Amino acid sequence: MARLGWLVLAAASALAQPASLLIPVEGVAASQLRDSFAEKRGGNLRGHEAIDIPAPLGTPVRAVDDGRVAKLFLSKPGGITIYQFDRDEKLGYYYAHLDRYAPGLTQGQQLRRGDVIGYVGATGNASPAAPHLHFAIFRLGPEKQWWKGEAINPFTYLGGQPSGAQK
Ligand SMILES: [Zn+2]
Repeated sequence: MARLGWLVLAAASALAQPASLLIPVEGVAASQLRDSFAEKRGGNLRGHEAIDIPAPLGTPVRAVDDGRVAKLFLSKPGGITIYQFDRDEKLGYYYAHLDRYAPGLTQGQQLRRGDVIGYVGATGNASPAAPHLHFAIFRLGPEKQWWKGEAINPFTYLGGQPSGAQK
C-alpha cells in the first residue's frame, strides 16, 4: 500500500502546477476573489472552469506570470481575449471580455509578470452592466495548442481563501 501511495504522489507531482500568480486585475485583493469555477453557465455543460473578477470598465489587466503571448483572439463568447503561455509552455492563461489590448501588445511578445496587457471590459457575452475579467488556467497538451487543455481552478493560485476561512 505504501508503494501505491508513493506512485500516486509521483504521478501528481509530474503534472504542471502554476506557481503563486499575480491577481490579474489592478486594485483587487485576494479576499475579494470568489470561487466560480464550478458554476454552471448558459449552455456550457462542463461548468464555468474559470474565475470572474468584477472591476470597473478600463481597469488595467496585468500578466499573472512570465511567458509569451500565444494568441490574440476575438471570439463570440470571450470577446477580446489573450492566451498566454507560462515560461515552460506547460500552462496556458486565458484573459477574456477585455475592453481593449494594451497599446503595442503583439503575438509572440514575451511578458513579465505584472505587465499591463489590456483593460477590463464587457466584450463577448459579458453583460455590459457588469464588466469583469474572465480568467482561466489550463494545462497544455503535448501539441501546445493555445485553444486546448485541461482546466485548472485559478482560485487558490491567485491567493483566494475557501469561503469557510473568510471572516
Ligand atoms: Zn466567466
